[in-house]
Amino acid sequence: MAQRKIALACSVCGSRNYTIAASATRTQRLEVKKFCKHCGKYTLHRETR
Ligand SMILES: [Zn+2]
Repeated sequence: MAQRKIALACSVCGSRNYTIAASATRTQRLEVKKFCKHCGKYTLHRETR
């Protein structure tokens, strides 16, 4: 089975800074605090499709 990858996009500027391997059993949308180099600070990142 191919591993699905999802991108995490900054909720402030919208740039896709991270890609992660998606778990097959996850149920809710991912929201993670990560560093955005465009904003220069930690922001909330959400998964995109
Ligand atoms: Zn940003």
